[in-house]
Amino acid sequence: MNSNIDLVLFGARGDLSARKLFPALYQLDRAGLLGDSVRIAGLAREAISSSEFIEKTHENLKKVVSKSAWDEAAWQRFSRRLTYIKVDFSQKKDFLALKGWLVEKRTVIYYMATPPSLYGSISKHLDAAGCVDSLSRIVLEKPIGHDLKSSRDVNSTVGEFFSERNIYRIDHYLGKETVQNLMALRFANRMINSQWDNTCIDHVQITAGEIVGIEGRWSYYDKVGQLRDMIQNHLLQLLCMVAMEPPNSLQADEIRAEKVKILRALSPIDRDNVLDQSVRGQYSAGWIDGQPVVGYMEEQGSESNNSDTETFVALKAYIDNWRWAGVPFYLRTGKRMKAKVTEVVITYKDHPHAIFPDKDSGAKNRLIIRLQPNEGIELEMFSKKQSLKERLSLEKRTLNLDFFDSSGESRIADAYERLFLEVMKGDQWLFVSREEIEASWRWCDTLIDAWTDKKVATKSYGAGTWGPSKADMLIEKDGRSWHGS
Ligand code: NDP
Repeated sequence: MNSNIDLVLFGARGDLSARKLFPALYQLDRAGLLGDSVRIAGLAREAISSSEFIEKTHENLKKVVSKSAWDEAAWQRFSRRLTYIKVDFSQKKDFLALKGWLVEKRTVIYYMATPPSLYGSISKHLDAAGCVDSLSRIVLEKPIGHDLKSSRDVNSTVGEFFSERNIYRIDHYLGKETVQNLMALRFANRMINSQWDNTCIDHVQITAGEIVGIEGRWSYYDKVGQLRDMIQNHLLQLLCMVAMEPPNSLQADEIRAEKVKILRALSPIDRDNVLDQSVRGQYSAGWIDGQPVVGYMEEQGSESNNSDTETFVALKAYIDNWRWAGVPFYLRTGKRMKAKVTEVVITYKDHPHAIFPDKDSGAKNRLIIRLQPNEGIELEMFSKKQSLKERLSLEKRTLNLDFFDSSGESRIADAYERLFLEVMKGDQWLFVSREEIEASWRWCDTLIDAWTDKKVATKSYGAGTWGPSKADMLIEKDGRSWHGS
């Protein structure tokens, strides 16, 4: 890998940097995966020196990194790469300090861990200060816009200074081992891939449940809601990974082109079907892990007692193409759910003719792709129950592809470690293209318009449950049920 790389982290004193970015970079260094000459500059507007910044980074890493992963020698090496540059991102003149730090003919990666409203102006200031050349890359965190128009605006402004092949849009779900494994599972296993369509699959469920609530971000979240925060990016990316056709190769362009086709084939949820295919929810007070928690409107920082922002969404979506015609994709995501879980569950169809005893008639194979907790893949199969009393009845057995057990590693790499590596390699296969972002906003905008049109209000659900009862009805009226609820 090219080691002549400088990494510039905008927002180096923010939450994402502290919890994810610096820990990921430290882990890469510890694993020997950061080239010797890689340099890292943290940028923020706090008036601190480089040595103070390094000390604060040290304190933070000691808190965030597990004891077993702490290696003093690795930290010493890592700390020598770090510099702090004080920059107010809205001040063009401040970027000259950054220019002074850059060295010619090195690849610079600008990582935007800042409010998204700054992506455009930072790009402009970088260019004006002479910090952008054909080697420079920019990494954009989600969200990119809050609808199709605003995402186009961000993409166009950033695109004036960086070519598409140098723009890396993060959806950190794509950095997860299980999501990449989904490609291996589908495209390296003929027996799986040959059964991957509407002749064999009954339906797909994608669930992303969080136990946490708004975490002090009320005023931000209230303008966004769960559809924009989770469905537009993470859940639709997972749906693409499940549904896309085999790409011609593992090249980024080929993979991304297949994902765009799925997003464009998503059947609109509009004013005609919105009441039937979507549910919005908002949590009220309830119990999490035996502790009482307040409702959304009573959260710290709440600015309204009649907000209708959704903290939960359940959808039934269809993909209008040859492979998936008629197969429902049930998507569900919410805050203050009963459990923290992210999973994709593929349920296979019944056999065309039942020969086993009646009590086994509901036996359906299920493939469970779990992103958290315990990343892994399980295949539920049936075999003969070992018993002399019964003639031939079935027993469910689970084939478990537990990564943690089989990898021989003491930990599974965090998504951000993989994503940093790919940006440094210059490989965009785990990043979202402009076309994907815009296609997913187009679909979400139609749904949001339909909610407004049809005045679809949120339904209340108690914190610590799986959402409003209407979400159960959404799937149960089709004779199915949510996995694990
Ligand atoms: P924070 O608000 O914690 O951090 C943003 C940082 O940007 C702050 O340190 C802030 O500095 C700095 N900043 C803002 N304006 C300026 C300015 N004009 N000049 C200099 N510094 C400035 O946000 P997060 O770290 O949570 O999020 C960063 C990005 O990552 C956002 O786009 C977010 O949507 C995205 N993201 C975050 C996730 C997370 O888990 N935190 C998850 C997924 C995406 P100051 O403190 O001085 O205001």
